Amino acid sequence: MPKRDLIEPLADEIKACRKCGLWRQRKNAVPGEGNLDAAVMLVGEAPGYWEDVKGRPFVGAAGKILDEMLSKAGISRSAVYITNVVKCRPPENRDPLLSEIETCTPYLDRQIKIIKPKFLVTLGRHAASYILAKVGIETEGITKIHGRIYEVNLLGSDVFIIPVYHPAATLYNAKYRDELDKDFQLLKLRLERGW
Ligand code: URA
Ligand code: SF4
Repeated sequence: MPKRDLIEPLADEIKACRKCGLWRQRKNAVPGEGNLDAAVMLVGEAPGYWEDVKGRPFVGAAGKILDEMLSKAGISRSAVYITNVVKCRPPENRDPLLSEIETCTPYLDRQIKIIKPKFLVTLGRHAASYILAKVGIETEGITKIHGRIYEVNLLGSDVFIIPVYHPAATLYNAKYRDELDKDFQLLKLRLERGW
C-alpha cells in the first residue's frame, strides 16, 4: 500500500485522539509532516505554543533553529519527515509525563514503520531515551551521548539513530548550539557518503 494511504488515516486518528489527558487543552494535535520517502526522520519532544496553534511541528522559535541547522547541513526541510514523541502540547510546555509518552508513542512507532527512515535524529532527551530504550540501550544523558551514531534494528528496519540536543535548549546556550551544529554536520557527512 502507498505510504500516503497509511500515514493520512493515521494523522486523522491522531487529530481525533483522546487517549491521554493532553487532548483537553490542545487547539490542534500535531501528527507530523514531511517527505514520506525521507532518509531522515526527526523526532522532537512535544508541540509548543505555535505548533499547537498551527497543527504543524517545529514552526516556532525551536523550529527556526532547526531550519537553520538543516539548511547549514544542506538538507531541505521538504526532504525530511518531522514529528514528536507526544502529539499534543503539554500545558505551559511542561515535560510530557511518562504515562502520556506511553499512551502516545504507539503513533510514533507506526509512523517509523511507515516511513522507514535510514537516519532517525532524536531531538532532546525525551526522544533519545524513548527511542534508545526500544532497542535496549539505556541513555546516559544527552550531554554524553549526543552526536553518537547507534546502528540498530528498530521496529524491523536497520536504522542509524543520532541523538542531538533539542534546538530549544540551544536558544540561549552558544555551546549547545555549536554542538548541535556539529552533530548536523555529521549527519550531512553520512548522507553524502551514502551512509
Ligand atoms: N519542540 C518540540 O519538541 N517539538 C515541536 O514540534 C516544537 C518544539
Ligand atoms: Fe492522544 Fe497523544 Fe494527544 Fe494524548 S498526546 S491525546 S495520546 S494524540
